[in-house]
Amino acid sequence: EQSRLESVIALAQHRGFVFQSGEIYGGTRSAWDYGPLGTELKENIKRQWWKTFVRGRGDMIGLDSSVILPPKTWEASGHLATFNDPLTESLVTHKRYRADHLFEAYEKEHGHPPVNGLDDIPDPDNPKVVGQWTPIRQFNGMLKTYLGVVEDESGLAYLRPETAQGIFTNFLNLLQTSRKKPPFGVGQIGKAFRNEITPGNFIFRTREFEQMEIEYFVPPAEAPAHFEKWVEDCVNWFVDLGVSRDSIRLFDVPDGDRAHYSDRTIDVEYDFGFEGEPWGELMGIANRTDFDLKSHAAVSGRDLSYFDPTTNERWTPYVIEPSFGLTRSLMAFLLSAYDEEEVPTAKGGTETRTVLRLDPRLAPFKVAVLPLSKKETLTPLAQRIADELRGDWNVDYDETQAIGRRYRRQDEIGTPYCVTVDFDSLEDDAVTVRDRDTMQQERVPVAGLKAYLAERLVG
Ligand code: ATP
Repeated sequence: EQSRLESVIALAQHRGFVFQSGEIYGGTRSAWDYGPLGTELKENIKRQWWKTFVRGRGDMIGLDSSVILPPKTWEASGHLATFNDPLTESLVTHKRYRADHLFEAYEKEHGHPPVNGLDDIPDPDNPKVVGQWTPIRQFNGMLKTYLGVVEDESGLAYLRPETAQGIFTNFLNLLQTSRKKPPFGVGQIGKAFRNEITPGNFIFRTREFEQMEIEYFVPPAEAPAHFEKWVEDCVNWFVDLGVSRDSIRLFDVPDGDRAHYSDRTIDVEYDFGFEGEPWGELMGIANRTDFDLKSHAAVSGRDLSYFDPTTNERWTPYVIEPSFGLTRSLMAFLLSAYDEEEVPTAKGGTETRTVLRLDPRLAPFKVAVLPLSKKETLTPLAQRIADELRGDWNVDYDETQAIGRRYRRQDEIGTPYCVTVDFDSLEDDAVTVRDRDTMQQERVPVAGLKAYLAERLVG
Protein backbone atom coordinates (compact mmCIF):
# COMPACT_ATOMS: atom_id res chain seq x y z
CA GLU A 1 0.00 0.00 0.00
CA GLN A 2 1.43 3.34 -1.12
CA SER A 3 1.51 6.23 1.33
CA ARG A 4 -0.12 9.50 0.36
CA LEU A 5 3.33 11.02 -0.03
CA GLU A 6 4.48 8.23 -2.35
CA SER A 7 1.31 8.56 -4.41
CA VAL A 8 1.77 12.30 -4.78
CA ILE A 9 5.42 11.94 -5.76
CA ALA A 10 4.49 9.31 -8.35
CA LEU A 11 1.66 11.45 -9.71
CA ALA A 12 3.85 14.55 -9.83
CA GLN A 13 6.44 12.79 -11.95
CA HIS A 14 4.00 10.80 -14.05
CA ARG A 15 1.84 13.79 -14.98
CA GLY A 16 4.58 16.33 -15.56
CA PHE A 17 4.61 18.43 -12.41
CA VAL A 18 8.15 17.58 -11.34
CA PHE A 19 10.98 15.75 -13.10
CA GLN A 20 14.23 14.53 -11.67
CA SER A 21 16.88 16.98 -12.82
CA GLY A 22 19.38 15.47 -15.24
CA GLU A 23 17.47 12.20 -15.34
CA ILE A 24 19.20 11.04 -18.54
CA TYR A 25 22.48 11.25 -16.60
CA GLY A 26 21.20 9.30 -13.66
CA GLY A 27 19.46 12.16 -11.88
CA THR A 28 20.18 13.52 -8.45
CA ARG A 29 18.27 13.77 -5.21
CA SER A 30 19.34 17.35 -4.82
CA ALA A 31 17.67 18.97 -7.81
CA TRP A 32 14.31 18.76 -9.51
CA ASP A 33 12.87 20.38 -12.60
CA TYR A 34 9.34 21.67 -12.88
CA GLY A 35 7.42 20.32 -15.85
CA PRO A 36 4.59 22.04 -17.73
CA LEU A 37 2.08 21.54 -14.89
CA GLY A 38 4.56 22.22 -12.10
CA THR A 39 5.57 25.47 -13.75
CA GLU A 40 1.95 26.61 -13.91
CA LEU A 41 1.29 25.56 -10.33
CA LYS A 42 4.40 27.37 -9.12
CA GLU A 43 3.44 30.53 -11.05
CA ASN A 44 -0.06 30.40 -9.57
CA ILE A 45 1.28 30.06 -6.03
CA LYS A 46 3.60 33.02 -6.60
CA ARG A 47 0.76 35.05 -8.09
CA GLN A 48 -1.51 34.37 -5.11
CA TRP A 49 1.26 35.19 -2.67
CA TRP A 50 2.11 38.43 -4.43
CA LYS A 51 -1.54 39.35 -4.65
CA THR A 52 -2.19 38.69 -0.95
CA PHE A 53 0.97 40.06 0.58
CA VAL A 54 2.34 42.68 -1.80
CA ARG A 55 -0.19 44.16 -4.21
CA GLY A 56 -3.12 43.59 -1.91
CA ARG A 57 -1.69 45.71 0.92
CA GLY A 58 -0.98 49.39 1.13
CA ASP A 59 1.97 48.83 3.46
CA MET A 60 3.93 46.51 1.15
CA ILE A 61 6.21 46.98 -1.87
CA GLY A 62 8.11 44.51 -4.05
CA LEU A 63 11.74 43.91 -4.94
CA ASP A 64 13.77 41.61 -7.18
CA SER A 65 17.40 41.72 -6.10
CA SER A 66 20.48 39.85 -7.32
CA VAL A 67 21.47 36.30 -6.43
CA ILE A 68 25.11 37.36 -6.18
CA LEU A 69 25.66 40.29 -3.84
CA PRO A 70 28.90 41.98 -2.75
CA PRO A 71 30.74 39.51 -0.43
CA LYS A 72 30.66 42.16 2.31
CA THR A 73 26.93 41.44 2.50
CA TRP A 74 27.62 38.01 3.94
CA GLU A 75 30.17 39.34 6.35
CA ALA A 76 27.58 41.79 7.67
CA SER A 77 24.71 39.30 7.69
CA GLY A 78 26.76 36.86 9.74
CA HIS A 79 26.46 34.09 7.20
CA LEU A 80 30.22 33.82 6.64
CA ALA A 81 30.82 33.34 10.33
CA THR A 82 27.77 31.43 11.44
CA PHE A 83 25.92 29.79 8.56
CA ASN A 84 27.71 26.57 9.38
CA ASP A 85 26.55 23.02 9.78
CA PRO A 86 28.46 20.52 11.91
CA LEU A 87 29.53 17.81 9.51
CA THR A 88 30.71 14.26 10.07
CA GLU A 89 31.42 11.35 7.75
CA SER A 90 30.82 7.65 8.24
CA LEU A 91 34.11 5.76 8.13
CA VAL A 92 32.21 2.79 6.70
CA THR A 93 30.16 4.25 3.84
CA HIS A 94 31.94 7.63 3.55
CA LYS A 95 28.53 9.26 3.45
CA ARG A 96 28.32 12.68 5.08
CA TYR A 97 25.77 13.66 7.68
CA ARG A 98 24.89 16.65 9.76
CA ALA A 99 25.95 15.73 13.27
CA ASP A 100 23.07 17.71 14.79
CA HIS A 101 20.59 15.66 12.74
CA LEU A 102 22.19 12.41 13.93
CA PHE A 103 21.97 13.63 17.53
CA GLU A 104 18.32 14.59 17.13
CA ALA A 105 17.43 11.19 15.66
CA TYR A 106 19.25 9.46 18.53
CA GLU A 107 17.49 11.53 21.14
CA LYS A 108 14.12 10.89 19.56
CA GLU A 109 14.68 7.15 19.68
CA HIS A 110 16.25 6.93 23.14
CA GLY A 111 14.64 9.80 24.97
CA HIS A 112 17.99 11.34 25.91
CA PRO A 113 20.98 12.75 24.02
CA PRO A 114 23.94 10.46 23.26
CA VAL A 115 26.09 10.43 26.42
CA ASN A 116 29.34 9.87 24.50
CA GLY A 117 28.49 12.03 21.51
CA LEU A 118 29.16 10.47 18.13
CA ASP A 119 30.64 7.36 19.80
CA ASP A 120 27.09 6.28 20.66
CA ILE A 121 25.64 6.84 17.23
CA PRO A 122 25.11 4.01 14.77
CA ASP A 123 25.71 4.29 11.04
CA PRO A 124 22.21 4.75 9.51
CA ASP A 125 23.07 2.31 6.72
CA ASN A 126 24.61 -0.29 9.06
CA PRO A 127 22.83 -0.03 12.42
CA LYS A 128 25.18 -2.60 14.01
CA VAL A 129 28.19 -0.39 13.35
CA VAL A 130 28.34 2.20 16.13
CA GLY A 131 30.61 5.19 16.58
CA GLN A 132 32.75 5.04 13.43
CA TRP A 133 32.65 8.72 12.58
CA THR A 134 35.19 11.33 11.55
CA PRO A 135 35.54 14.29 13.93
CA ILE A 136 32.91 16.97 13.48
CA ARG A 137 33.98 19.94 11.39
CA GLN A 138 32.13 23.10 10.57
CA PHE A 139 30.97 23.36 7.00
CA ASN A 140 29.65 26.62 5.51
CA GLY A 141 26.32 26.20 3.77
CA MET A 142 26.81 28.93 1.17
CA LEU A 143 27.58 27.96 -2.41
CA LYS A 144 30.74 29.54 -3.75
CA THR A 145 31.58 30.77 -7.18
CA TYR A 146 34.35 32.86 -8.76
CA LEU A 147 33.71 36.01 -10.71
CA GLY A 148 35.95 37.30 -13.48
CA VAL A 149 38.87 35.54 -15.12
CA VAL A 150 41.02 34.62 -12.14
CA GLU A 151 39.89 31.83 -9.88
CA ASP A 152 41.36 33.16 -6.68
CA GLU A 153 40.13 34.73 -3.48
CA SER A 154 39.73 38.15 -5.11
CA GLY A 155 36.91 36.84 -7.28
CA LEU A 156 35.28 34.69 -4.60
CA ALA A 157 31.53 35.24 -4.36
CA TYR A 158 28.55 33.47 -2.85
CA LEU A 159 25.12 32.60 -4.13
CA ARG A 160 22.55 33.95 -1.68
CA PRO A 161 21.33 31.42 0.91
CA GLU A 162 18.23 33.58 1.52
CA THR A 163 16.63 36.36 -0.49
CA ALA A 164 16.35 38.61 2.56
CA GLN A 165 19.73 40.32 2.37
CA GLY A 166 18.97 42.09 -0.92
CA ILE A 167 16.13 43.82 0.90
CA PHE A 168 18.37 44.99 3.74
CA THR A 169 21.12 46.26 1.42
CA ASN A 170 18.46 48.21 -0.52
CA PHE A 171 16.81 49.59 2.61
CA LEU A 172 17.68 53.23 1.90
CA ASN A 173 16.69 52.98 -1.77
CA LEU A 174 13.39 51.40 -0.83
CA LEU A 175 12.66 53.91 1.89
CA GLN A 176 13.47 56.92 -0.29
CA THR A 177 11.80 55.85 -3.53
CA SER A 178 8.63 54.39 -2.07
CA ARG A 179 8.06 57.13 0.53
CA LYS A 180 6.88 54.44 2.95
CA LYS A 181 7.24 54.73 6.69
CA PRO A 182 7.49 51.92 9.20
CA PRO A 183 5.48 49.82 9.64
CA PHE A 184 5.98 48.81 6.02
CA GLY A 185 7.36 45.75 4.32
CA VAL A 186 9.09 44.46 1.24
CA GLY A 187 8.25 41.21 -0.53
CA GLN A 188 10.56 39.26 -2.77
CA ILE A 189 10.37 35.95 -4.60
CA GLY A 190 13.46 34.25 -5.92
CA LYS A 191 16.01 31.49 -5.90
CA ALA A 192 18.20 30.72 -2.94
CA PHE A 193 21.04 28.25 -2.73
CA ARG A 194 22.40 26.16 0.11
CA ASN A 195 25.00 23.47 -0.02
CA GLU A 196 22.77 21.04 1.86
CA ILE A 197 24.62 17.99 3.10
CA THR A 198 21.63 15.71 3.01
CA PRO A 199 19.21 16.87 0.35
CA GLY A 200 16.17 14.68 -0.07
CA ASN A 201 12.52 14.00 0.66
CA PHE A 202 11.61 14.91 -2.92
CA ILE A 203 11.52 18.70 -3.36
CA PHE A 204 11.47 19.34 0.40
CA ARG A 205 15.22 19.83 0.72
CA THR A 206 17.19 20.80 -2.37
CA ARG A 207 20.37 22.78 -2.92
CA GLU A 208 18.61 25.19 -5.23
CA PHE A 209 15.16 26.32 -4.16
CA GLU A 210 12.82 29.25 -4.21
CA GLN A 211 11.74 31.47 -1.38
CA MET A 212 8.99 34.02 -0.97
CA GLU A 213 10.17 36.39 1.72
CA ILE A 214 8.88 39.46 3.47
CA GLU A 215 10.95 41.83 5.55
CA TYR A 216 8.53 43.94 7.54
CA PHE A 217 10.08 47.01 9.17
CA VAL A 218 8.45 48.18 12.39
CA PRO A 219 9.05 50.47 15.37
CA PRO A 220 10.94 48.26 17.87
CA ALA A 221 8.23 48.41 20.54
CA GLU A 222 5.61 47.15 18.08
CA ALA A 223 7.62 44.11 16.94
CA PRO A 224 5.95 41.46 19.17
CA ALA A 225 2.42 42.48 18.10
CA HIS A 226 3.36 42.47 14.41
CA PHE A 227 5.03 39.10 14.86
CA GLU A 228 1.81 37.55 16.17
CA LYS A 229 -0.22 39.08 13.36
CA TRP A 230 2.15 37.75 10.71
CA VAL A 231 1.99 34.23 12.10
CA GLU A 232 -1.77 34.39 11.82
CA ASP A 233 -1.74 35.90 8.31
CA CYS A 234 0.71 33.26 7.05
CA VAL A 235 -1.31 30.33 8.38
CA ASN A 236 -4.49 31.85 6.97
CA TRP A 237 -2.92 32.15 3.53
CA PHE A 238 -2.24 28.42 3.40
CA VAL A 239 -5.66 27.53 4.79
CA ASP A 240 -7.47 29.85 2.37
CA LEU A 241 -5.73 28.09 -0.53
CA GLY A 242 -6.64 24.59 0.57
CA VAL A 243 -4.26 23.38 3.29
CA SER A 244 -6.29 21.97 6.16
CA ARG A 245 -5.62 23.64 9.52
CA ASP A 246 -5.22 20.19 11.10
CA SER A 247 -2.19 19.46 8.98
CA ILE A 248 -0.44 22.62 10.20
CA ARG A 249 1.17 23.14 13.58
CA LEU A 250 3.28 25.92 15.05
CA PHE A 251 6.64 25.30 16.63
CA ASP A 252 8.08 28.01 18.86
CA VAL A 253 11.82 27.52 18.32
CA PRO A 254 13.54 27.50 21.74
CA ASP A 255 16.56 29.57 22.77
CA GLY A 256 19.74 28.13 21.40
CA ASP A 257 18.12 26.58 18.35
CA ARG A 258 17.27 29.78 16.53
CA ALA A 259 19.28 31.37 13.72
CA HIS A 260 21.92 33.83 14.93
CA TYR A 261 19.82 36.86 13.99
CA SER A 262 16.56 35.81 15.57
CA ASP A 263 15.00 36.90 18.84
CA ARG A 264 11.97 34.72 18.27
CA THR A 265 11.06 32.20 15.60
CA ILE A 266 7.92 30.27 14.93
CA ASP A 267 8.19 27.51 12.40
CA VAL A 268 4.99 26.69 10.57
CA GLU A 269 5.16 22.93 10.18
CA TYR A 270 3.16 20.76 7.84
CA ASP A 271 2.35 17.09 8.05
CA PHE A 272 4.19 15.97 4.91
CA GLY A 273 3.94 12.34 5.99
CA PHE A 274 7.67 11.66 5.92
CA GLU A 275 8.84 8.34 7.23
CA GLY A 276 9.94 8.62 10.86
CA GLU A 277 9.12 12.28 11.55
CA PRO A 278 6.10 13.11 9.39
CA TRP A 279 6.18 16.86 10.08
CA GLY A 280 8.50 19.27 8.31
CA GLU A 281 9.08 23.02 8.28
CA LEU A 282 6.94 24.72 5.68
CA MET A 283 8.02 28.24 6.50
CA GLY A 284 9.33 30.32 9.38
CA ILE A 285 8.47 33.67 10.92
CA ALA A 286 11.37 35.37 12.69
CA ASN A 287 11.83 38.53 14.67
CA ARG A 288 15.22 39.55 13.26
CA THR A 289 15.28 42.64 15.51
CA ASP A 290 17.58 45.42 14.23
CA PHE A 291 20.38 42.89 13.76
CA ASP A 292 20.65 43.10 9.97
CA LEU A 293 20.24 46.85 9.49
CA LYS A 294 22.69 47.57 12.31
CA SER A 295 25.27 45.09 10.96
CA HIS A 296 25.02 46.47 7.45
CA ALA A 297 25.33 49.98 8.83
CA ALA A 298 28.47 49.02 10.72
CA VAL A 299 30.12 47.21 7.79
CA SER A 300 29.09 49.67 5.05
CA GLY A 301 29.48 52.84 7.07
CA ARG A 302 26.07 54.02 5.85
CA ASP A 303 23.39 55.16 8.24
CA LEU A 304 20.51 52.70 7.95
CA SER A 305 18.33 54.18 10.64
CA TYR A 306 14.99 55.87 10.14
CA PHE A 307 14.23 59.44 11.05
CA ASP A 308 10.68 59.77 12.28
CA PRO A 309 9.54 63.33 11.42
CA THR A 310 6.50 63.11 13.67
CA THR A 311 8.54 62.51 16.84
CA ASN A 312 11.87 63.93 15.65
CA GLU A 313 13.49 60.68 16.69
CA ARG A 314 15.97 58.50 14.87
CA TRP A 315 15.79 54.75 15.35
CA THR A 316 16.62 51.50 13.58
CA PRO A 317 13.52 49.50 12.70
CA TYR A 318 13.02 45.97 13.92
CA VAL A 319 12.26 43.43 11.22
CA ILE A 320 9.62 40.72 11.22
CA GLU A 321 10.43 38.18 8.56
CA PRO A 322 7.89 35.70 7.24
CA SER A 323 9.98 33.38 5.06
CA PHE A 324 8.05 30.98 2.85
CA GLY A 325 9.58 28.12 0.92
CA LEU A 326 7.92 28.23 -2.48
CA THR A 327 8.86 24.69 -3.37
CA ARG A 328 7.82 23.37 0.05
CA SER A 329 4.52 25.24 -0.35
CA LEU A 330 3.99 23.59 -3.73
CA MET A 331 4.55 20.20 -2.15
CA ALA A 332 2.11 20.99 0.67
CA PHE A 333 -0.57 22.17 -1.76
CA LEU A 334 -0.19 18.99 -3.80
CA LEU A 335 -0.39 16.78 -0.71
CA SER A 336 -3.38 18.65 0.65
CA ALA A 337 -5.22 18.42 -2.67
CA TYR A 338 -4.62 14.72 -3.23
CA ASP A 339 -7.70 12.55 -2.81
CA GLU A 340 -8.85 9.09 -3.80
CA GLU A 341 -12.53 8.23 -3.79
CA GLU A 342 -14.79 5.37 -4.84
CA VAL A 343 -17.11 6.31 -7.68
CA PRO A 344 -19.75 4.27 -9.51
CA THR A 345 -18.91 2.88 -12.94
CA ALA A 346 -21.24 2.60 -15.93
CA LYS A 347 -21.42 -1.17 -15.40
CA GLY A 348 -22.84 -0.79 -11.90
CA GLY A 349 -19.64 -1.42 -9.94
CA THR A 350 -17.26 1.06 -8.38
CA GLU A 351 -13.76 2.25 -9.14
CA THR A 352 -11.21 4.45 -7.46
CA ARG A 353 -10.89 7.93 -8.83
CA THR A 354 -7.82 10.02 -8.07
CA VAL A 355 -8.56 13.70 -7.89
CA LEU A 356 -6.41 16.69 -7.07
CA ARG A 357 -8.77 19.04 -5.30
CA LEU A 358 -6.54 22.03 -5.94
CA ASP A 359 -8.07 25.41 -5.32
CA PRO A 360 -9.06 26.66 -8.80
CA ARG A 361 -6.73 29.64 -8.26
CA LEU A 362 -3.82 27.22 -8.10
CA ALA A 363 -4.91 24.63 -10.66
CA PRO A 364 -2.46 24.44 -13.61
CA PHE A 365 -5.27 24.17 -16.16
CA LYS A 366 -8.52 25.92 -15.37
CA VAL A 367 -10.42 24.30 -18.21
CA ALA A 368 -10.00 21.30 -20.52
CA VAL A 369 -11.81 21.27 -23.85
CA LEU A 370 -12.64 17.74 -24.91
CA PRO A 371 -14.39 16.91 -28.18
CA LEU A 372 -16.42 13.75 -27.51
CA SER A 373 -14.62 11.97 -30.31
CA LYS A 374 -11.88 12.83 -32.74
CA LYS A 375 -14.16 13.61 -35.62
CA GLU A 376 -13.65 16.24 -38.28
CA THR A 377 -17.10 17.55 -37.51
CA LEU A 378 -16.34 18.27 -33.84
CA THR A 379 -12.75 19.46 -34.01
CA PRO A 380 -13.29 22.94 -35.52
CA LEU A 381 -15.89 23.96 -32.93
CA ALA A 382 -13.88 22.47 -30.05
CA GLN A 383 -10.71 24.22 -31.15
CA ARG A 384 -12.50 27.49 -31.62
CA ILE A 385 -13.86 27.26 -28.07
CA ALA A 386 -10.44 26.36 -26.67
CA ASP A 387 -8.80 29.30 -28.45
CA GLU A 388 -11.40 31.70 -27.16
CA LEU A 389 -10.97 30.53 -23.57
CA ARG A 390 -7.18 30.76 -23.85
CA GLY A 391 -7.49 34.52 -23.85
CA ASP A 392 -8.47 34.27 -20.18
CA TRP A 393 -7.18 30.99 -18.79
CA ASN A 394 -4.67 28.22 -19.24
CA VAL A 395 -6.63 25.67 -21.26
CA ASP A 396 -5.88 22.06 -22.09
CA TYR A 397 -7.15 20.46 -25.27
CA ASP A 398 -7.35 16.69 -25.56
CA GLU A 399 -9.13 14.69 -28.22
CA THR A 400 -7.76 11.17 -28.00
CA GLN A 401 -8.92 8.20 -25.85
CA ALA A 402 -12.34 7.48 -24.40
CA ILE A 403 -14.00 10.46 -22.73
CA GLY A 404 -14.08 8.72 -19.35
CA ARG A 405 -10.32 8.29 -19.35
CA ARG A 406 -9.82 11.88 -20.36
CA TYR A 407 -12.00 13.03 -17.45
CA ARG A 408 -9.91 10.91 -15.08
CA ARG A 409 -6.72 12.45 -16.39
CA GLN A 410 -8.06 15.97 -15.84
CA ASP A 411 -9.20 14.95 -12.33
CA GLU A 412 -5.69 13.74 -11.59
CA ILE A 413 -4.11 17.04 -12.57
CA GLY A 414 -6.74 19.10 -10.79
CA THR A 415 -8.51 20.78 -13.72
CA PRO A 416 -11.67 22.31 -12.22
CA TYR A 417 -13.80 22.23 -15.40
CA CYS A 418 -14.04 20.00 -18.45
CA VAL A 419 -15.94 21.29 -21.47
CA THR A 420 -17.21 18.54 -23.74
CA VAL A 421 -18.19 19.23 -27.31
CA ASP A 422 -20.54 16.54 -28.66
CA PHE A 423 -22.66 16.00 -31.73
CA ASP A 424 -25.61 17.83 -30.16
CA SER A 425 -23.36 20.87 -29.85
CA LEU A 426 -23.46 21.23 -33.60
CA GLU A 427 -27.25 21.50 -33.38
CA ASP A 428 -27.91 23.38 -30.13
CA ASP A 429 -24.72 25.47 -29.88
CA ALA A 430 -24.21 24.29 -26.31
CA VAL A 431 -21.57 22.23 -24.51
CA THR A 432 -21.45 20.05 -21.42
CA VAL A 433 -19.48 21.45 -18.50
CA ARG A 434 -18.29 18.91 -15.91
CA ASP A 435 -17.30 19.93 -12.41
CA ARG A 436 -14.16 18.18 -11.10
CA ASP A 437 -15.29 17.81 -7.51
CA THR A 438 -18.94 16.90 -7.89
CA MET A 439 -18.65 15.31 -11.35
CA GLN A 440 -21.98 17.03 -12.06
CA GLN A 441 -22.56 17.95 -15.67
CA GLU A 442 -24.44 20.93 -16.94
CA ARG A 443 -25.45 22.01 -20.42
CA VAL A 444 -24.21 25.53 -21.12
CA PRO A 445 -24.73 27.61 -24.31
CA VAL A 446 -21.44 28.33 -26.07
CA ALA A 447 -22.32 32.02 -26.08
CA GLY A 448 -22.52 32.03 -22.28
CA LEU A 449 -19.56 29.73 -21.58
CA LYS A 450 -17.03 32.43 -20.76
CA ALA A 451 -19.35 34.12 -18.31
CA TYR A 452 -20.26 30.75 -16.75
CA LEU A 453 -16.60 29.93 -16.14
CA ALA A 454 -15.61 33.45 -15.10
CA GLU A 455 -18.18 33.31 -12.33
CA ARG A 456 -16.60 30.13 -10.98
CA LEU A 457 -12.93 30.86 -11.62
CA VAL A 458 -12.42 33.95 -9.52
CA GLY A 459 -9.01 35.22 -8.51
P1 ATP B 1 15.56 23.50 7.61
O1 ATP B 1 15.58 23.51 9.12
O2 ATP B 1 14.49 22.62 7.04
O3 ATP B 1 16.89 23.33 6.98
P2 ATP B 1 15.78 26.30 7.81
O4 ATP B 1 15.22 26.56 9.17
O5 ATP B 1 17.22 26.31 7.59
O6 ATP B 1 15.13 24.98 7.20
P3 ATP B 1 15.12 28.91 6.92
O7 ATP B 1 16.52 29.38 6.94
O8 ATP B 1 14.18 29.35 7.98
O9 ATP B 1 15.09 27.32 6.81
O10 ATP B 1 14.52 29.24 5.48
C1 ATP B 1 13.20 29.70 5.30
C2 ATP B 1 12.40 28.76 4.43
O11 ATP B 1 13.09 28.46 3.22
C3 ATP B 1 12.14 27.40 5.07
O12 ATP B 1 11.05 27.44 5.95
C4 ATP B 1 11.86 26.55 3.86
O13 ATP B 1 10.52 26.69 3.45
C5 ATP B 1 12.76 27.14 2.80
N1 ATP B 1 13.98 26.33 2.67
C6 ATP B 1 15.11 26.43 3.41
N2 ATP B 1 16.03 25.53 3.01
C7 ATP B 1 15.48 24.86 1.97
C8 ATP B 1 15.93 23.81 1.11
N3 ATP B 1 17.16 23.31 1.22
N4 ATP B 1 15.09 23.35 0.16
C9 ATP B 1 13.84 23.88 0.02
N5 ATP B 1 13.36 24.86 0.79
C10 ATP B 1 14.16 25.36 1.76
